[in-house]
Parts: sequence; structure tokens; C-alpha cells
Amino acid sequence: MATAVAGPEIERLIQLLARLPGLGPRSARRAALHLIKKRELLMAPLATALQTAMEKIVICKICGNIDTQNPCTVCTDARRDPSIIVVVADVADLWALERAHAVNGRYHVLGGRLSALDGVRPEDLTIDQLVRRVSEGGIDEVVLAMNATLEGQTTAHYVAERLEGFPIRLSQLAHGLPVGGELDYLDEGTLAQALRARRPIA
Ligand SMILES: [Zn+2]
Repeated sequence: MATAVAGPEIERLIQLLARLPGLGPRSARRAALHLIKKRELLMAPLATALQTAMEKIVICKICGNIDTQNPCTVCTDARRDPSIIVVVADVADLWALERAHAVNGRYHVLGGRLSALDGVRPEDLTIDQLVRRVSEGGIDEVVLAMNATLEGQTTAHYVAERLEGFPIRLSQLAHGLPVGGELDYLDEGTLAQALRARRPIA
């Protein structure tokens, strides 16, 4: 076990930083030290930003997006085509598609992917809410923008089944998406291309 080199307050900061994705214990120490050295310039504004975000964050009641307003910025954007819904698993995928400037419609965030292994069932996702949105009418196309992974594709098939019988076009991202590809890791060009070349679900 590593010996503590600093007081419990600093050790606590390092432990919490180490839980962030992409940061191991080593880089968490480096990040903590950086924050401490730049406490006026970086640490104080970061603490305020964390606090403010924590207080203001809400989940959009229409699409499940994370924002500081409800309905979210995307749902209230009048320039977007309300007849297109792009279904994504996570907010990270929504952000990836927005970075690629690929979507002029709205979104539906499922909140995860179906997985027998991790025990994620349909009722754990916002699939019922999606079906309700579609059943309320005014939707012409639903695009299933899922990862090209087993879980992504299982989820896409299940959602497609649930949307069967509605008068909508149902499409999914083109094969340009590499097998095993996760949207969040794709470059914007590939992602935009996969969306433009989307194909109907057979
Ligand atoms: Zn929304």
C-alpha cells in the first residue's frame, strides 16, 4: 500500500480525481498537484463550475438529454426538424453527433444499451417514452444511431421491433461505421458520413 504523502484533504482530492475516466492514480496525482499549484487560476473556478453545474443540471423530460434547462437546448431549438428523431444510447453519443454537425433533427437518449451480461433490460431504458413520443404523431423518421457493437445492435433491433407498425421511416447508421465502433470515438467526418448514408432497416 502506498504511503500518504499529503494530508487527508489532498489524498481525498486525488482519490476522487482517480475515478474520472482516463485518469489512473498516477495522472490523478499529477492533476491534483496541477490544481493545487494553480489554485487561484484553475482550482477556484473549477470548484465554482462544478458546484454550479451540480445545482443546474437537469434531464430533459422530452428526450433524456442532460442540460441546464428542461426541455433541453436541442428540443427547444426551433431551427431543428421536429419530425426526425435520432435515437442514441448515451448523451456522449448525442454530443459526438453534434460535434459532427450531422443531425438537424431531435434526439432520444435511451440511457444505455440492452445487455444480458450487465443485466440491462428494456424497462431500464427510456424505450417506452420513445414509443410514446412516436405514437403522439408528427414523427416521419426515426434514425437508430447505435454503436456497431453486439449490445448496440441488439438494442437497435429491439427498438425497431417496438416501433413496428407506426407510419414512420426507420433507418440506421450506414455500414461505414466500423464493426465494434463506438460513436463517441469516431472522427466527425466518419460519423457524419454514416448518418448521411443511413439505410432503412430491413
Ligand atoms: Zn431534450
